[in-house]
Amino acid sequence: MSIAIYPGSFDPVTLGHLDIIKRAAKQFDKVIVCVMVNSEKKGLFTPDERVDLLCRVVKGLDNVEIDSSHILLADYAKSRGASCIVKGLRAMSDFEAEFQMATLNRKLNPDLDTVFLTACQDYTYLSSSIVKEMARYNVKLEGFVSPLIEEDVNRKMSEQLNVKK
Ligand code: ADP
Repeated sequence: MSIAIYPGSFDPVTLGHLDIIKRAAKQFDKVIVCVMVNSEKKGLFTPDERVDLLCRVVKGLDNVEIDSSHILLADYAKSRGASCIVKGLRAMSDFEAEFQMATLNRKLNPDLDTVFLTACQDYTYLSSSIVKEMARYNVKLEGFVSPLIEEDVNRKMSEQLNVKK
């Protein structure tokens, strides 16, 4: 069985991420979308909340599983029996860092390969940071995130802004 890991912060999951998840799910028997927890980076959503948002937007995609991990990606992939990491490439600016990570991960785990899916043209500009910036200024999130989670992002952002006041 071909198992791929799609790692990221997903703070929150965007339509760009979702497009990559759906396309990867066509290429692999199983795709594990993994929220990589970095204790030094505090996000808008907690890791558990990000997992919950992901679970809601991938509902119905039967070969997609959502998980989170705080261990090294190469070790996590090994522990899940995955042979591949999937990454989305938005622009050449993504390439250098991704190329470095892919090379490192293959060094750490020689059985682990990385495949890159180029971003859908409509989403090349889209990132979780852009979504948070839009939410901060009350821009409607239609076309940025799934309608299933729009309200959660708006609510969380206004909670955060109120705490800072
Ligand atoms: P972000 O940059 O949005 O904070 P993550 O760190 O969660 O995203 O990224 C996880 C993976 O998803 C990375 O491989 C990243 O290149 C990819 N990705 C992010 N946004 C998009 C998009 N709009 N289209 C395609 N791939 C994307």
